[in-house]
Amino acid sequence: MSLAPAALDNPGTALEVGRLLFAGDCRFVAGVATIDQLPPMGLPEIAFAGRSNVGKSSLINALTGRRALARTSDTPGRTQQLNFFTLGDRVMLVDLPGHGYASAAKREIARWTDVIDAYLRGRATLTRVCVLLDARHGLKDSDRELMVRLDKAAVTYQAVLTKCDKLDDGALEARRGALEAELRRHPAAHPELLATSAVSGLGIAALRATLATLAAPA
Ligand code: GDP
Repeated sequence: MSLAPAALDNPGTALEVGRLLFAGDCRFVAGVATIDQLPPMGLPEIAFAGRSNVGKSSLINALTGRRALARTSDTPGRTQQLNFFTLGDRVMLVDLPGHGYASAAKREIARWTDVIDAYLRGRATLTRVCVLLDARHGLKDSDRELMVRLDKAAVTYQAVLTKCDKLDDGALEARRGALEAELRRHPAAHPELLATSAVSGLGIAALRATLATLAAPA
């Protein structure tokens, strides 16, 4: 069954459709270090981007309910490849390398930026990029640079706040308001900002429901 966007009007249905998709079979397809290694285009792709240590691996694992699908790491910037996973044979999840870590050599950063840019610009099946932002820190320069690159590539992206369990409700609302104002100035940014926590489970079901609207029909 495909989920028309209108089905999001019915939260019960949308959450269930999202749950079912993410409960489906999830398989590692490829780890890509250079652009010529990309798997052939097929399913709609949803990519996850964010600064190193933003909680990207934890969020992907929470979404898919697998503990070690995306490798969490205490060494920021260690996993320098694009990792492709099929989900329920309906969508490809793409774990992009973390950006913004200070310890990497400039030449390495430039090489990675080139690989990621080539992917973002040339991938007709890339349907959405989730730009993960640590709720405690908001937007950093490297996030803004990524958003401008996505605007230029005309790839729709959606901001997802991570680690929201670390903020109280007031601080979270303030963060959300400031970010939404800034997102409105970016042409390719989706207006909806999702607040999540891989620890408390906040927003995970809602994010599954949103992403399920982008999957190919079953
Ligand atoms: P990545 O480098 O972006 O893949 O980040 P990881 O998923 O490896 O997480 C980085 C650190 O943040 C780890 O110590 C995680 O335990 C922690 N972390 C990740 N998500 C959350 C969250 O939702 N809440 C809290 N409190 N900590 C988190």
